[in-house]
Amino acid sequence: MVTHPRPTPAAKPTAYPGGDHHRVAVIGGGASGVLTAINLLGRSADPGLRVEIHEATGIVGRGIAYGTNDARHLLNVRSRHMSAFPDVPSDLIEWARRTGRSLDPQAFLPRLDFATYLQDRLAEVADHRLRICAGRVDDVVAVDGCFEVRTAGDVSRADSVVLAHGHQRPRPLVLDGDQLPPASWYVADPWDLGALRVLADDATVVVVGTGLTAVDVVVTLLEEGPRRRVVMVSRRGRLPAAHVAASSTAWVQPVPEGPLTADLLADHVRDQVRAAATQGVGWRAVVDGLRAATTPLWKRLPLDERRRFLAVHAHEWEVRRHRMAPEVAARIRGYQDEGRLSVLAGGLTSVADRGGHCEVRIGDLPTAVTAQALVNCTGPATDVTRSDDPLLLALRERGLLTPDPLLLGIDTLDGGELVGEHGEAVPGLYAVGPSRKGTLWESTAIPEIRAQAAAVADRILARTSSPARSGAVRAVTPA
Ligand SMILES: Cc1cc2nc3c(=O)[nH]c(=O)nc-3n(C[C@H](O)[C@H](O)[C@H](O)COP(=O)(O)OP(=O)(O)OC[C@H]3O[C@@H](n4cnc5c(N)ncnc54)[C@H](O)[C@@H]3O)c2cc1C
Repeated sequence: MVTHPRPTPAAKPTAYPGGDHHRVAVIGGGASGVLTAINLLGRSADPGLRVEIHEATGIVGRGIAYGTNDARHLLNVRSRHMSAFPDVPSDLIEWARRTGRSLDPQAFLPRLDFATYLQDRLAEVADHRLRICAGRVDDVVAVDGCFEVRTAGDVSRADSVVLAHGHQRPRPLVLDGDQLPPASWYVADPWDLGALRVLADDATVVVVGTGLTAVDVVVTLLEEGPRRRVVMVSRRGRLPAAHVAASSTAWVQPVPEGPLTADLLADHVRDQVRAAATQGVGWRAVVDGLRAATTPLWKRLPLDERRRFLAVHAHEWEVRRHRMAPEVAARIRGYQDEGRLSVLAGGLTSVADRGGHCEVRIGDLPTAVTAQALVNCTGPATDVTRSDDPLLLALRERGLLTPDPLLLGIDTLDGGELVGEHGEAVPGLYAVGPSRKGTLWESTAIPEIRAQAAAVADRILARTSSPARSGAVRAVTPA
């Protein structure tokens, strides 16, 4: 059996200046929050540690990515790269084997299974020190060197706070400067599968966006309604690339030296793709081979060059970097071959409300599409200056949070501390997860999030001067 080591109680409780406990509030119980809690509890033997996960839905381990209840929505990363523990790459595979799931390390598990895996891993380190609080945190106030964490009905104190609030809903769709008004046919939240499932069996649906969330929406709609039709539309009309059935070894490559520009970086990738091809190695291995170097390269780019990367090269990178599982890609090809799915390039020209349905004009297509639903799959919103999330608004107002200069999320230091309004670190306030994209670029997938969670847990535990377990949290096989 594979288990996590349980913390052994320290001989004496540690005394803290603010009381008997070091209290950590983790805001958000998706993958980022749960991995942070696992690391805190697993790395510390301190009986004075208290970890509270505040999760709006009350159910931890799911978040947006793993909260789907459609088993056809697969991970877009192979099992062997999705372990909760970077130093135990086989952990998810072992868990899958023990629980009667796929044994194949190259497999792409259903995303709902990954939620169960995270829940199981949390349960193994959970003890009296963990509390799960159902409810949305809408304010955090710095008071006398610690924080008040406020929800609608409660205020609790914390010595450290970790923002693991994850993805924001997509920005509203805008046409001619006006937001699309609410309508019965308008699905503003692409992760609300219930809104898709009530559609008629023969509905035509316009999906705005062609990324991985749009692909999920298409799979649910067309698998559950064999007579439905979907029109996907995005500016370029490009679907994510697909993984190939067997992964090849990452192409290890030198990174450019000296001053770096976005164009130089793009040239470098193209050169490497050509060099790899001469050895019979595909472009996927080049993209995967750059994974570890991506954040250091991003940090070397001056701000203007990061802007140029976003404007000119990011799209090409993203469709190749975030890929569909082969099974999902095969389904999508199948729908296209059957004529049930069209993928179009171009913007929405107009959307006319016709009561129970809408008429959508796309690019310069001569005829409008009559659709029973239009789904906003334009991707998670990142610009916190335009967010109406009460917590983000409050944190900005209090000077505890600043947007990163590219408006991809929030400004953080390398150690995960938030940068306050005067450009200084806010001691005790950290972020883990997609909100750090502006600082790190690669900050959305599990391989990066698990490393962030471990690093932030270490920094928090170092503040408590509490007895720490030596080494990383890891799965062990008892003799
Ligand atoms: C559809 C989709 C599929 C993905 N698939 C993969 C994949 O296969 N592999 C991979 O490596 N990565 C994948 N990702 C990337 C994903 O970003 C990460 O893997 C990870 O799930 C991010 O988790 P998170 O906890 O940061 O964010 P989220 O999943 O967004 O979770 C945030 C949680 O915080 C809660 N919350 C937010 N604000 C508050 C508040 N104020 N108070 C209380 N609770 C709050 C929310 O209710 C939510 O449960 C996917 C992303 C998406 C969107």
